[in-house]
Amino acid sequence: MTSRSFVDAWRRRKCAAFDLAGNSTAGRALELDLWGRRTRVYANANLSVYSGQTCNARCSFCVEELRPASRGRALAQQRRVEPDDGAYFAALEESLRALKPLDPTVSVTGGEASLDPRLPRILKTLAAAGGRKRTMTTNGSGLLERREGRTVLEWATTTGLKHLNVSRAHPDQSRNERLMRFTAAPGPDALRRIAREAKASGTRPRLSCVLLNGEVDSLEGVVEYLAFARSVGVDNVIFRQLMRTDPASAARDPVVLYSDARRARLEPLLDAVSADPRFSFVRQVVGYYYYVEVWRHAGMDVVFEEADLARLEATKREDPGLVHELVFHPDGALASTWQPWDGVLGPGVPA
Ligand code: SF4
Repeated sequence: MTSRSFVDAWRRRKCAAFDLAGNSTAGRALELDLWGRRTRVYANANLSVYSGQTCNARCSFCVEELRPASRGRALAQQRRVEPDDGAYFAALEESLRALKPLDPTVSVTGGEASLDPRLPRILKTLAAAGGRKRTMTTNGSGLLERREGRTVLEWATTTGLKHLNVSRAHPDQSRNERLMRFTAAPGPDALRRIAREAKASGTRPRLSCVLLNGEVDSLEGVVEYLAFARSVGVDNVIFRQLMRTDPASAARDPVVLYSDARRARLEPLLDAVSADPRFSFVRQVVGYYYYVEVWRHAGMDVVFEEADLARLEATKREDPGLVHELVFHPDGALASTWQPWDGVLGPGVPA
């Protein structure tokens, strides 16, 4: 459930306030037959298609690294890619067929999906399977490259992507390059072209910004970022607090230490947004390990999100039989977690 009237307790408790029947967006679970096994799946579960393409950026706060680090593993230890295209796409098609009764939202993520040679076929496969809202998250570096006769951006738009999320840590190009530790991020002109072409084809571009102490970490920082987004033709921005990891299992990994040291807290920022008449409240979403608020500012959609990987594990322990989200891994496994060694559902290989 999302609420049109603001619930202060949800902002304070965040995902700890999650109650599947009481305040989740679907309010219920479904029973699916997954390769002969009856499986309870949250009715509004998202399917992430996780590109195995190594990212060319090296953000010190990398979310892809943070997820395994929270469970005490390094990313390199868990990344396996099915080398055979035929086997990979057969597994993807089989997973989409099995999930048809759920009709999940689908997000393509990475790694860096825009550099993945398999991306055009992944997008075509997802489009052929139909289904509701499909999105992709990228650092933007490969969007204007040509692949199989079209730009990657054209592949995204012509296969019906609803949203295109481009990660950018700072409006200033050189500060963004320093934070993401790469120089291939699209500059303002390229972003303007990406936004223009995406919108012309019905795909909504969105910028995604992490909240970092000393960078974008305040209400005025948010407003400046929004002005930058508007200047490149983007009217939809998400600001993310760096994910919290699970203290019970997290490795003392540089990405964990950096995130803990540089995490700008969302809650006081949201309190400042609430007190600012330039912003108007739209809705809250309480997820099983994330919390979202949506606001409007000068004709733009502004989304704030925080997530807690310790809470993710706690929610799973409370109801171990329930699948909250689905991840199609680069090795061709469909799993209920971001780790291909945990919660594998198929195809044809029940855990
Ligand atoms: S762009 Fe994304 S996947 Fe790449 S290093 Fe940064 S956070 Fe990680």
